[in-house]
Amino acid sequence: MKIFLSCDIEGVSGLVDFDDGGLNGKRYPDFAKIMSEEVAAVCALFPSETELFVKDAHMHAKNIPLSAMPDNATLMSGWSGHPYNMVQGLDESFDAMLLVGYHDQAGSDGSPAAHSFTGEVYSLKINGEYMSEFDIALMTASMLGVPTIFVMGDERITQKAGSLVPGIVTIPTKYGVGAAIASRTSSYNIQLVNQSKDQIEQILAGDKTDFIIELPKKFEIEIEYSRQHLAYHNSFFPGCELSGPRTIRFETDDFYEALRLFHFVI
Ligand SMILES: [Zn+2]
Repeated sequence: MKIFLSCDIEGVSGLVDFDDGGLNGKRYPDFAKIMSEEVAAVCALFPSETELFVKDAHMHAKNIPLSAMPDNATLMSGWSGHPYNMVQGLDESFDAMLLVGYHDQAGSDGSPAAHSFTGEVYSLKINGEYMSEFDIALMTASMLGVPTIFVMGDERITQKAGSLVPGIVTIPTKYGVGAAIASRTSSYNIQLVNQSKDQIEQILAGDKTDFIIELPKKFEIEIEYSRQHLAYHNSFFPGCELSGPRTIRFETDDFYEALRLFHFVI
């Protein structure tokens, strides 16, 4: 069995805002530790013969120390420059993908740390729908035929996951109110992870096709930036057009081309 995990920080227990997740944040070391512990708890759901591949996918992608990982895990730290971005390392050979520390999307109000990929993206839409990092990970995994079976993160993203993938195991860590969050403790949320073991085993033993979404036939992508000059600059990407003062538009029927676009313009 091969299991892929992608891990972010903004959705972990207790983290409030970008300051908490940034290198200069006074509380950053605490949250890097909580992120590592929550990821380790998810790793521990699997027996030692399971091959785990863990992608550290926040900021410089060097938040999780290798020493926090079990011996059956391979940890990818840093950014290679591959368009799969937060799920780099994923391929058709994996039996399932699990996401930890995921969070609400740009253009939404479910978390003070809501964003999609960078702070410069005011909103990212595909076919008129706001896209989160979860959506993009889910679509990438679905493109590769890999089921997305688990997401742990803020309440808003776990709700979205539940509506897009009925049956997915969701562990909400906290919810946002304006510039605040209200969170359960990490140890409580880790107990919920431990309690999900049977459910995960059942999913893995059954027909997992329900955890793979059907991708749209066509992707009409609209990216609105916080600053107008970025839209102007990025509108020169092949196939892109400037559709508003801060917005670019791109159309494709191949999701990989959408990932290539994101790789260069966000
Ligand atoms: Zn993120």
